[in-house]
This record gives sequence, C-alpha cells and structure tokens, in this order.
Amino acid sequence: MTTKNKRENIFFQLRKDLVSGTWVLFSTKRDKRPDFFKKEEEKKEGLENIKNCPFCKEKITDQEKDVLVYAKNDGDWSLKVFPNKFPALSSEYKDINKRDHGPFEVIDGVGYHEVLVTEDHKKDIPDMEIIQIAEILDAYQERYLALMNRKHIKYVSIFKNYGHEAGASIEHPHSQIVAMPIIDPDVFRSINGSENYFNAHKECVHCAMIEWEKDSGKRLLFENEEFVAVCPFVSRVPFEMRIYPKRHLSYFERITDEQKVKLAEAMKFCLSKLKKNLNDPAYNLFLHTAPCNGQIYDHYHWHFEIFPKTNIWAGLELSTGIEVCSIIPERAARMLRE
Ligand SMILES: [Zn+2]
Ligand SMILES: [Zn+2]
Repeated sequence: MTTKNKRENIFFQLRKDLVSGTWVLFSTKRDKRPDFFKKEEEKKEGLENIKNCPFCKEKITDQEKDVLVYAKNDGDWSLKVFPNKFPALSSEYKDINKRDHGPFEVIDGVGYHEVLVTEDHKKDIPDMEIIQIAEILDAYQERYLALMNRKHIKYVSIFKNYGHEAGASIEHPHSQIVAMPIIDPDVFRSINGSENYFNAHKECVHCAMIEWEKDSGKRLLFENEEFVAVCPFVSRVPFEMRIYPKRHLSYFERITDEQKVKLAEAMKFCLSKLKKNLNDPAYNLFLHTAPCNGQIYDHYHWHFEIFPKTNIWAGLELSTGIEVCSIIPERAARMLRE
C-alpha cells in the first residue's frame, strides 16, 4: 500500500471545533472493527469470550511487536504491552502537518496506541493479588516514561474499559495507553480549573477537597498511608469514584514503588466494591495527570477516576452538557462501603 492510498483509506485527523475549541478525533481505521455500529441486541455476543480470545497466551504469538514484557520465574509472561491492532492514532505520520481547512484548524493524528494485557483471562483487578496490580501500575509508568518524550506528544492517556457498555470489545483484562499530539478537552478543563483555583486561593483544589472529604467522611470509601478514595461531592454519574494521592503530587510518572503498592490497594478496594455491591457493572477507569508538553504543572494533582456505566446521556445532557446523576454521592459511598 502506498502512502497516498494509506492517507485516503485510513484516516487519522484531529479537528478543532471553532466555537467550543474542543478537539474531535477522526480515526477511520477503527470503523473496521467488526460489528462496531450494530445495534445493542445484535452486539451482545460480540464480546470475545475465552474460546477465541485474541489476548490469551496461545493467541499472542507475534512477540516481535511487544514493547514491554514482564516475565515470570518460569519464563512465561505475566504482563505485556503491544501496539493496538486498531489504533486511534498513527505512529506512521512523521509530522502533525498543522494547516487550515477553510476556517478550521486541522492536524494529522500523530501518536501511539498501545494495549496492556495481563496473563489470566478470568482474573481482573478485584481478583488479583496486590503485587499483580502494582505490576500493572509499574507498566503504566514504564510506558508513560517511554512515550512522554517522543516528538509531538503532549499528553499520555492511560485508561481501562471494562465491560461491553464501557466500550470494551474484548473480555480479557486489558488497559490502553494512548500518546497524543494534543491535550484532550477533559484534561485541559481539569488543568485550567485547578490552575484558576490555585491562583485564587494559593492552594491546590484537590488538596482542599481531600482535606474536606477526610474531615467529613461522608463520601469517603478508602484510606491508607498514601491514598484516599471518595465518591466526589459533584459526582457526574452514580457511584463515580476518585482515587487521590494524599500528598500533593503532580506527575504520575514519578510514582514510587511503595506508592504503587498503596495505590494498588485502593484500586482493588474500589473495583471490588463496585463488582460486589453493584453486580459487576461496566466501567471506565482513567488517569488524569500533568501533561508532558514541556510546561510546568506543579499546581496539578494527579488522580484516577472510575466511571461506572450507570448513566445514559439523553437530550438534556447532550443539549446542555449538564449531566444528570440519579443518586447523591453520600448515599452512593454508604452503599459501596457496606
Ligand atoms: Zn483471554
Ligand atoms: Zn494537591
């Protein structure tokens, strides 16, 4: 396939909305994912089960593409990271090629999209040992450090989709790492908001929230020496959870081994409660951390967010952007703690 053909058939582009300033990613290679646009009922069977799972050991034979492998004592792997077969961004572009398209701004979708899988098809975070979860965090950090300094990369998004409703197309436990040439709108808002608060109050907005949540205890889910987990006061969906380092830390990539173990405890607690108390719902888990675009973000406070698929965006949400949450977080936290 020539480069020209590739550009016509496979398309990775970021377009900036003229009014909101929001970037939207167009990634046509992803259309080719089988059954992607089919209706819900027909798609139910779509989640690859263990029999033909592409992430189980027997199926992952293409070792050449692995970018990270953690081996066990017996030589077998326990975790590996490799490029996503259906990437949202392409590492084949050499440049972002920023240009105008009529009144719009357009750049090429330069980036990296990787998948992290753990060995056991049946064992996800709630059923893992702390040491295994810490190993996932280890790999997150290692890939973050490898990708953050690559040309054009401004943000590295780390996330996990669990369950079909949360966008997972494969059942096998996995996470994704996407290195992007822009700072995505959600992170942009989060960074801006925390900077504005810092300028106005001379303290970190997240530190202030954590202190208040610890004092109140109403929305508190979990606490150890290093981390605290809460249902946020302004939860966007029922049973939303956030995990914060108790110390003011801006850059996830600087996490220490001791902190990884403590974070693993918090993650296991939160996801186990979700599984047990809400009958194993689909969820998205993701990291918000200071961007890697060369600027200083000491005011920021990294954290993980967990969004169970407990809400559907309907007319009000879509037309106004106002999310409607059907349970107050105080009650959600109480139900989760039980
Ligand atoms: Zn599998
Ligand atoms: Zn802070």
